[in-house]
Amino acid sequence: MSKPAFPPLSPKVVLGVAAHPDDLDFFSGGTMAAFAKAGAEVYYIILTDGGKGTSDRSLTPEKLRDIRREEQRKAAKILGVKDIFFCDYPDGTLENTLDVKRDVVRAIRRVKPDVVVAMDPTEVYVAHQGLVNHPDHRAAGQAALDAVYPLARDHLTFPELADEGLEPHNVATLLLIRMEAAAANYAMDVSELMDLKFEALAAHSSQFGDLDFMYNWSREICSAAGEPYGYKYGEPFVRIDIK
Ligand SMILES: [Zn+2]
Repeated sequence: MSKPAFPPLSPKVVLGVAAHPDDLDFFSGGTMAAFAKAGAEVYYIILTDGGKGTSDRSLTPEKLRDIRREEQRKAAKILGVKDIFFCDYPDGTLENTLDVKRDVVRAIRRVKPDVVVAMDPTEVYVAHQGLVNHPDHRAAGQAALDAVYPLARDHLTFPELADEGLEPHNVATLLLIRMEAAAANYAMDVSELMDLKFEALAAHSSQFGDLDFMYNWSREICSAAGEPYGYKYGEPFVRIDIK
């Protein structure tokens, strides 16, 4: 068993950046709940409208967007998330454009997070688990990385945001979500928070038909990630404390 090489995290403000409603809850819901319980203000920015995530041919993207927003609000409330910014880029074709980066920078400059949680854009697939990472996840992760460093920091970048009264902001720590625990360098202890996280996942009823499958997958990820730290369950991240 090895100990975490990092000092404990006690952020005042946390911002989760994700492509879809449900991403942050599934991969980092325990962490978000832990931060919220410790007194942090937790915010989400969801970049796409989630309007493609169905096999139900009677649902239009607009109808699905509304359903998924409501599901995300419900799940976030369970975890103690304070507010959510919805951006509504089309689901499935997210690119790390200037507009997307500006929206993430706007959220960073608005809430001034100590910690930003986002998907690791370098995780393209996990071959031995048969997983391909969704391209929207990678685009959202890269946008978050770019926004944290250097875009949110530099006052000359997106000067139009100054007209909205938003000042530059330095983020202290990035937590990049990993599907594959072996590649992580950090885990958040969520041993006592798995039930709460599962309650939040159950709120995404349009997405998770087979909840037991999702719960088991989450237990699998979190048990592997927690093991080196002596946690029953840990959520795996690449943690970067930015110099
Ligand atoms: Zn997703």
